[in-house]
Amino acid sequence: MSDVSNKNMKMTPQRIAIMKYLDGNTAHPSAADIYVALQEQFPTMSLATVYNTMETLKQQGAVVELSIDPGKKRFDPNTQPHHHLICIKCKTVLDIFVDFPLPLSDRETGGFQILGNRVDFYGICKTCGDTPREMIQTNR
Ligand SMILES: [Zn+2]
Ligand SMILES: [Zn+2]
Repeated sequence: MSDVSNKNMKMTPQRIAIMKYLDGNTAHPSAADIYVALQEQFPTMSLATVYNTMETLKQQGAVVELSIDPGKKRFDPNTQPHHHLICIKCKTVLDIFVDFPLPLSDRETGGFQILGNRVDFYGICKTCGDTPREMIQTNR
């Protein structure tokens, strides 16, 4: 398959299924997560198809790519400005819809017009915090 045909992506059943899976999804899934979730429905769909679809959706502004998880790209179908709370153990990502006024002086911005910000909070979620240490270690 040539690269050109990829650019004109049609609404394939796989793509519709991916968009449906992402609709209202607050888990911030990676391409691999989406691939696994849709395996049963589309056994012949490849991980590359999911990657390509996510790339297209990102370019169209339908999803936001997050770089908060160093292991993999995560995608957020909620394109409204919001912040994230990230568990460093299980990589759970929660949304925070609070405005953080982070005033920068003119000296710091140098005339730069600030349109928004994105704040990532790192920590340990309640589930991981409640898990005894031995269990976390055997989980590796
Ligand atoms: Zn956790
Ligand atoms: Zn989010």
